[in-house]
Amino acid sequence: MNKILIVDDSTTTLSILTENLLDKLDNIEILSAKNYKEGLKYIVEYGNKIAIAVVDLHLPDSKYGAMLEVTDSKFIKTIVLSGTLNDKVKKIIFEKEYVIDCIAKDGKKSIKSVVNSVNREIKNRNKNILLVDDSSVQISIAQKLLKKMNLNVTMAANGKEALQIIKNSEKTFSLVLTDYHMPIMDGMELTFRLREIYDKDELGIIALSSNTTLEIATEFLKIGANDFINKPYLETEVVTRINANLDLIDLFNKTKDMANKDFLTGLYNRRYFFESGNIILKKSIRAEKNLALAMLDIDNFKNINDTYGHEVGDTAICEVGSLIHKYLRSIDLIARFGGEEFCILIEDIKLIDVENLFEKIRLAFEKNIIKANDSKLIYTVSIGVFYGIDKSLEKMLKIADDALYYCKNNGRNQVKIKDLTKN
Ligand code: GH3
Ligand code: MG
Ligand code: MG
Repeated sequence: MNKILIVDDSTTTLSILTENLLDKLDNIEILSAKNYKEGLKYIVEYGNKIAIAVVDLHLPDSKYGAMLEVTDSKFIKTIVLSGTLNDKVKKIIFEKEYVIDCIAKDGKKSIKSVVNSVNREIKNRNKNILLVDDSSVQISIAQKLLKKMNLNVTMAANGKEALQIIKNSEKTFSLVLTDYHMPIMDGMELTFRLREIYDKDELGIIALSSNTTLEIATEFLKIGANDFINKPYLETEVVTRINANLDLIDLFNKTKDMANKDFLTGLYNRRYFFESGNIILKKSIRAEKNLALAMLDIDNFKNINDTYGHEVGDTAICEVGSLIHKYLRSIDLIARFGGEEFCILIEDIKLIDVENLFEKIRLAFEKNIIKANDSKLIYTVSIGVFYGIDKSLEKMLKIADDALYYCKNNGRNQVKIKDLTKN
């Protein structure tokens, strides 16, 4: 639960902001304070358990900006929402290490800005950004800013280093922020190379340059940069542009998820399974490697629904994904085919490992206890497996399905592997 402290003497602002934040964001708790004293009380009680503070500069019981001084000194990320903000004041406020945004009160528009800013701040926690610049001074300025935005920053001194990091790192990067002029490989070449691997919706690229000819910006956008920023820049501009680009990438991902994933479990759906599975199949045929394709079905699932209700049934279905994931590698494909039926595709695996793996998974279900209302629920699964290689994924599925039927007809809670390599 993310605690969000709002300190504002306007009860209207307090209630509208609270309502909007609760509407838009999940997993948050609002601590609402109508003056400095109440704000301070929350800070003393919760300290750095407060994820973000939204503070007004004018409060009836304190000096101008006093609440901000407290949140900043307690290392609490703060959004300033105030009626009196000219550019000079904004600049001074922004220099504070823990200020993440500075918004002038302006009715509905400013409320929306605060909600977006809070949302972004929470989401940025899991986002990786690659900062590419040969100047250590520029790097340290940008790094400070990006850290303030809650982003996980990795650094590279030129395009070549950046490419190596992106290709070899375990991390998935959301955004690359690159300078233009750099030794070894410049930002233009880097952008070009990255676009050969990643589309705009997979990896955002923002280029920065102090060479302000219009052609440079156009050139960058033409070869695939998502955005361009002139140096020197205003901090607020960089923050806004980075956030806007991250929002877009999130939106692309959400759309992709909606098309490819099952709503209940978050696992891939049947459509995606065939799309991705056929790519894996072709690769395995070329490499002359065997595949394991398994159909897994919960035993007597109807009884779970009938005895404990549909909601517990749903929990049991969700449990399948989290339990199986523990035994699979990240490259293995798992999908919910519908109801309580799942499909797993594993490439480049030996028969003996297939036997061990699915037996382990079957046992894991047998030992797994889930909470069902006030009682405990244990359920088992049957697993039918195709092992070998065939040019048709459908045919492999049919064989796995026959093996599953065999399990169901022979007492359930078992694994049946059809080894087609001997044919
Ligand atoms: P078997 O051991 O032979 O597989 O029997 P079973 O009862 O598990 O299988 P059956 O196909 O007879 O019943 C599956 C039930 O799953 C029927 C359907 O109402 C229920 N079901 C399908 N989708 C969902 C879902 O998303 N949530 C819940 N709770 N139930 C679902
Ligand atoms: Mg079943
Ligand atoms: Mg069924």
